[in-house]
Amino acid sequence: MARASDAPPLPRVYRLLFKRFGSQHWWPALSKRYRREEVCLGAILTQNTAWTNVEKAFTGLRDAGWLDLRRLASAPLQDIARAIRPAGYFNQKALRIRAFAHYAESHGGLRRLLTQEIAPLRAELLALKGIGPETADSMILYAADLPVFVVDAYTRRILARLGATAPDASYAELQDFCTSRLPRAAAIFNEFHALLVRLAKEHCTKRRPRCESCPLTRACLKRLAAA
Ligand code: SF4
Repeated sequence: MARASDAPPLPRVYRLLFKRFGSQHWWPALSKRYRREEVCLGAILTQNTAWTNVEKAFTGLRDAGWLDLRRLASAPLQDIARAIRPAGYFNQKALRIRAFAHYAESHGGLRRLLTQEIAPLRAELLALKGIGPETADSMILYAADLPVFVVDAYTRRILARLGATAPDASYAELQDFCTSRLPRAAAIFNEFHALLVRLAKEHCTKRRPRCESCPLTRACLKRLAAA
């Protein structure tokens, strides 16, 4: 019977994925000028929806000039909701992104806010309504470029199938697992998360994973158990 200790080491998983897919150039920000703003707003807007819908919502925000958080913080809620409608849950998300803009502006602006240490920044973000661990960590990793590993449903699925972690492991357990087994560098965490997303979309899908063509097929315990 397969044991967790038989699972492939994460650095090997990283190498195999990088060899197959190459650099993913995340976060998929749309503009250079507002990269940090897009990452943070995108981390909220992408909750419960696909990234393609977030891109459409960004069009509305950009057209209204609301990638500038000072302007977003004072914009009428119903207008924000209309602009981000394609992202779904638009009334709730309008409240959340405007509250985030308020929060950033009250700290002297987003750039300044993101210069904080990881622990206080994470604690402050988690205290905001509608920002959970995945959203906060996405902001810290992709906007502040600080080494925090982002866990999502793809991470959970792939690590469980590899035999590395339990399917019901908590967010903190999965994050600790990855953080302790990879070099603690924002660039590595950034790339690995993006590679896992790519793998989950192209091979390790929820139903009927395409194991034959998967770059991890020789290392995966699920695959080996089925052989
Ligand atoms: S071999 Fe199959 S189950 Fe294992 S990671 Fe690849 S796609 Fe997922």
